[in-house]
Amino acid sequence: HNQPVTTVMMPSPATVKVAPMPPQPDALSNHTTKVFNEATMAKYCGPQVVATFRKSLLVGAELDEPAKQAIAKGMFTWARENGATSFAHWFFPNRMGGGAVGGSLGALKNDTFLDLVWSSDATIKPFEVTFPTERLFCGETDGSSFPNGGLRQTHTAAAFTMWDRSSPVMIYDGVMRIPCCFVTHYGKCIDLKTPLLRSADAVAREGMRLLSLMRLPGQQAARAQTIHSYVGWEQEFFVVPAEAFKNRPDLLNCGRTLFGALPSRNQQMDLNYFGPIPNKVDQLLKIVEAKMLEVGVPMAARHNEVAPGQHEMCPIFCAASASCDNNVLFMEICTNEAQKLGLVVLFHEKPFAGINGSGKHNNWSVGTDTGINFFYPGKTDDQRLCFVTGVAALAWGLKEYNELVRISVAHAGNDHRLGAQEAPPAIISLYPGTGFEAHVNHIIRGGDLLDYVAEKKKAGPGCAAAEQIDTNVEDRNRTASFPFCGNRFEFRAVGSSQNCAFPTTVCNTIWAAGAAHISEYLEQGVSLRDAVARTFYECQSVIFTGNGYSSEWPIEAKKRGLPNLNTTPLAIAAFSGGKCKEALTSMGIFAEDECDAFAESMYENYNTQLCIEVNTMLSMVATGFTPAFAKDLSTYKDAPELAGERKTLYPEVLVQAAKLKQLMSRALGISPGALVCFDHGAQF
Ligand code: ADP
Ligand code: MG
Repeated sequence: HNQPVTTVMMPSPATVKVAPMPPQPDALSNHTTKVFNEATMAKYCGPQVVATFRKSLLVGAELDEPAKQAIAKGMFTWARENGATSFAHWFFPNRMGGGAVGGSLGALKNDTFLDLVWSSDATIKPFEVTFPTERLFCGETDGSSFPNGGLRQTHTAAAFTMWDRSSPVMIYDGVMRIPCCFVTHYGKCIDLKTPLLRSADAVAREGMRLLSLMRLPGQQAARAQTIHSYVGWEQEFFVVPAEAFKNRPDLLNCGRTLFGALPSRNQQMDLNYFGPIPNKVDQLLKIVEAKMLEVGVPMAARHNEVAPGQHEMCPIFCAASASCDNNVLFMEICTNEAQKLGLVVLFHEKPFAGINGSGKHNNWSVGTDTGINFFYPGKTDDQRLCFVTGVAALAWGLKEYNELVRISVAHAGNDHRLGAQEAPPAIISLYPGTGFEAHVNHIIRGGDLLDYVAEKKKAGPGCAAAEQIDTNVEDRNRTASFPFCGNRFEFRAVGSSQNCAFPTTVCNTIWAAGAAHISEYLEQGVSLRDAVARTFYECQSVIFTGNGYSSEWPIEAKKRGLPNLNTTPLAIAAFSGGKCKEALTSMGIFAEDECDAFAESMYENYNTQLCIEVNTMLSMVATGFTPAFAKDLSTYKDAPELAGERKTLYPEVLVQAAKLKQLMSRALGISPGALVCFDHGAQF
């Protein structure tokens, strides 16, 4: 207000030079500065530190003190330059299924870059902005409010977070996120990241053991130092207007509708998939895409899904741990950005009965650091031998530990999906392609491992304007839980609300177990051909190339001895069976007590989710339906002949609700009155 008035000299029009507008950067030219990957580390810490870091990751060694300090210092400088004002250890509590609305899968322990200054001039400068080295590597916190399956109690509550060096640190919303393991005071695992990293070790250990026993002559195999697993997730979700969402207590509390009817036109006409994306949703998806790129995650695809209001996005695949983390971040970013646009993203597996549900396809592969992919048919003989052997390891693991694979996707939300028409059945089988199935039979009959000809066929539209193309080696099979996709397998049964970490852990575990099985034959002096043939012979029953949705498949599967665990309680009960524990303990994923605790957490999660649904249902009947029934009936009091079924239907709803309440209170061992739900007790 008190600015002196100055005379501004305006330049004459002749002297005004309009600078040409610089080209506006589009989404792709935005630099991804907010991820501390190896390139960022090289820039801020120097190439020597990167080399030390890589080596320590490879052999699982601790970094030396100078390297630790250099990394923490470089990271801090980078974080401040990129607008981070705080940091957080980011971990993934043991939760199967995301519960109500997305974004609840990760936990952030927010912490400050400020520290007290303990020196003589502390009165002048009491705080400094700093990031002590040890705070990067480890944190201590209260572990009490997380599912733990009995591994810790409130009076022994400490828990620790440790940096997972295989997933990059990133900055989102001004917070530098450090992906972490989360374990109890006694080093027991109470999260989903720790088993994933242990399974990565199992893949590296058993994969390298197998590879060296295979004695492949080429350099690509000889130079391999480790074996990684990779994941590219496909995330399906629904987008609804926030206003409509807020009007539904069931969507709010449970992430799905408990009542309702389909609109007359829903998905019958197949209008949706790959159709134009509704404007506002398109806007959301593009914003999310740009935000993901900023943190170093390039998205590969965005499109509608089969049901109205349903969509899908997927990134370019990367190392498994980083991929699982960036999927959690994706769900969080979707949730945040949707809110700004007046939208809500539903990650529940089945928000609306009668139309397609949402899944998360875990595209997964394992390969050497020199580029041999165990699930790619390959060009050289070495690569082709790795492919046949790698698929044998997977098939054997799937057969031997079939229940475990089913368990890895078992939770309340997924029960609405698995076994229904659009999702894979609850029976876990392997689809390697019909050509490969024939090759398996050929090997078992004594054929050579290299006889599989990954022959591309020609397919064309039969017109002059468009050319013929080479088709994929094998056709797609959407009805299998584990179809082959040319260079990876796609675990299709994962729930849309789930963290990919546990399903990936199990994929890694069973593959490592299969690799170990083949290695044992090789160590006994059996030839590679015979070892693979025997392995396929033992697990042939898990290979199925037919229609997994057909009514004959469950009957056939039963004959083959494949389990059909079609509910979560059935699946969890199988967890305590010896086989699952054998796989997890022998591969070093869980100790016995960690297995039991995991199963316990799954039960707890399932029961809690169902209780919330029942309570919500009862509340809705009592507070929403009952008054509406009364009002509606009064409309017809002078013309009862127009009331249709209302007079009998409405009281019946209340009778059923009362029954449900009885059942629920009996299950919980409490009186119906003690149930946490409103009851206006309306009488007809
Ligand atoms: P679909 O055509 O089956 O819908 P998408 O293109 O939507 O497949 O998604 C395929 C996903 O698989 C992408 O995330 C892609 O990066 C990932 N992917 C590709 N190759 C591999 C691989 N070798 N290992 C793991 N994931 C992969
Ligand atoms: Mg897709």
